[in-house]
Parts: sequence; structure tokens; C-alpha cells
Amino acid sequence: MKKILQDLTYAELEELILSLGEKKFRAKQLYEGLMQGKTIDGITSLSKAFKERLQEEYENEPVKIKEVFYSADGTEKYLFEYADGNLVEGVLMKYKYGYTQCVSTQVGCRMGCKFCASTLGGLIRNLTAGEILSQILVVNALHKNDVVGQGKEARAVTNVVLMGSGEPLDNYDEVLRFLRNITAEGGLCISARNISLSTCGIVPKMYRLADEGIPLNLTVSLHATDDETRARTMPVAKAYKIAEILKACEYYFQKTGRRYYFEYTLIAGENCDETHARALVELLKGKPCHVNLIRLNEVKERDLKALGDKDAYRFLGMLEKGGLSATLRRQIGVDIGGACGQLRASYLEN
Ligand code: SAH
Repeated sequence: MKKILQDLTYAELEELILSLGEKKFRAKQLYEGLMQGKTIDGITSLSKAFKERLQEEYENEPVKIKEVFYSADGTEKYLFEYADGNLVEGVLMKYKYGYTQCVSTQVGCRMGCKFCASTLGGLIRNLTAGEILSQILVVNALHKNDVVGQGKEARAVTNVVLMGSGEPLDNYDEVLRFLRNITAEGGLCISARNISLSTCGIVPKMYRLADEGIPLNLTVSLHATDDETRARTMPVAKAYKIAEILKACEYYFQKTGRRYYFEYTLIAGENCDETHARALVELLKGKPCHVNLIRLNEVKERDLKALGDKDAYRFLGMLEKGGLSATLRRQIGVDIGGACGQLRASYLEN
């Protein structure tokens, strides 16, 4: 596979340009073009000869949007195709303040969560920083008429969540490079506060992330209140206990001053009766955190069932009564296979 220019920081790109015997200002032209989601070929300010030279070593178009699915509620789902033919998916959710894009960090996943479609075929490979960034660059380009903000701040995608396929902390170095590049001045310059990273709870990497000093929103997929129940749906629970996860979250809060989040997917008969609600309150009471309840998107390969709407609100009510800050996530894009990995799985099947 060829290398990817979108992996590089601006300083690295400048170095590359100088090493190719080009003038420094070419780096700016190249960088700006790339940040606008252009292919190398599509950057008109650069000479044909130079672009051909670049393409001998670098991918012209690291990712393309293979298909777009439109939900009745405005949500868009994408199937992205990488240069080596691998597929990942992404979602764009439209809000008043701007667009939130959900990105994938790996092709497949090796965490093996029982409710998740992304992990069905295991991990195929990690995505590079530039491959992750490119998901956003091409979606921004697709929506270039929906820009909010002005000047350098102008963009369609204002918020990013690392909640697509893959476990971001299992691809730590590339994800970190992606985070540094996307928040960089002069690049997309997305504020870390507008970025959420979701992990199944790889504790040592949570500490490492806390020490990086990037004040993003850390979200942990909890989905249970005791280790035994958790291990039934999440194999990673055998390696890291809930108590260790909570300690790591506390450390994250101390280091960054950011409150943290828990995702709790409601699985009927598994984790969401009254005793679980009480246990969750007991576990999280008084902590600087917020709980996002998620309705299970039933995956046809698995026989787990979603909790009914009425019971979901009842569960939420019990958490609130117990003093937790919690919300039941609005279900969006259900008509287009909103859940992680469902789209890719059905695509591969056909
Ligand atoms: N690997 C990261 C990101 C995964 S996706 C993590 O584990 O957090 C983001 C969230 O969606 C996670 O909380 C994940 O557990 C949840 N999820 C995955 N499949 C789901 C499904 N079918 N229904 C509901 N939530 C699901």
C-alpha cells in the first residue's frame, strides 16, 4: 500500500516538500487542499508534474464514499472504501449547532462484545491516523454547503465521536496522532471538547490518554454493574474490573478536569431491571459523570433483545431518582442500520 499524506502533521508535510526540492509555500497549498477533502489530483494550485511525483509514493484518494444511506430523520450513514478495498462505516448526525460525525478506528474489532456487529469477523486491521481523518475530510467536502462558522473555523462537521467500528484504545498510537492532527491549529482545528472517545475500558490506555493532556470527552462502555454480568457480553471484562475502570475515570477527571461518561446499553433480561438500576446508582453516585442509556440495536447474528420503550424510561427514571445525571439516547437512523458494523456486515454478506 502507498503512504498517506493525511497522516502527516503540517510540519512533516513541509519537511517532505522541502526534501522533494519544492518551495515551502507549496506545503501550504497542499495542506489546505487536503484539509478541504481534495485528492492530490484535485488540488489545482499544484503542477501536474509535482502531483504525479507525489502519487508515486502517496495515495491519491485514501478513502472514498462508496455509498450514502439517508434516514428519514436526516441522519446519514456512509460506507467508506479504503485504497486496499477494506470497508468501514460512519454516521453523520445533524443538530442545530452543527454536524456530529461518528468515525471508525479499525476495520473490524477484536473485542468480541456479544451485542456488536463490528466484531463478528474479528479485527482485519488498524486504520492509520490519516485514514481516520479522511473519513471526516470527505464528509466535510460532501457537505461543503452546510458550513457553520466563519473563515478558518468554517466547517460542516463540528463534533466528532470515536464510536464507529473498532476499539480506539486498541489502536492507540494512530488514534492519538489523529486526535493531535484534527485539533491542530490551521488544520480542521476541532476543539477537543467537541470530541468524544468511547472505549470498552482498556484501563492502562485510559491512564495513558489522561496523561496526554487532550481534554476530550471520555466515554466508557459499561453495560453492567458487576464484573460477572459484564463478562457475559464483554470479554474485555475478564481483563479489567469495573472497580479499576472507575479508578481510571477518576484519574482522567483529576488530570483533565473533564467529567466522564458511561454508555449503558439496555439488554432485556440481562442488565436493566430494578436491582440493576439500584446497583448503578450505588456504583456511580456522587461521581462527576453522566450516564447515556442506549437502546440495543438488535443484531440478527445475536439473540439479545432490546428493552421496550416504557421500561427504558422507567430505568432512566430510577437513575434520576437516585441522583445520577442520565439521559436515554434518542434513537436515530434506525431505518438505515444505525448500529456499529451492521452495514458493513450486511454488505460483506451480499
Ligand atoms: N469500541 C468502543 C466504541 C464502540 S461503539 C467501545 O466499546 O466503547 C460505541 C457504543 O455502541 C459502545 O458503547 C458499544 O458498546 C455500543 N454498541 C455496539 N453495538 C451496539 C448495539 N447493537 N446496540 C447498542 N449499542 C451498541
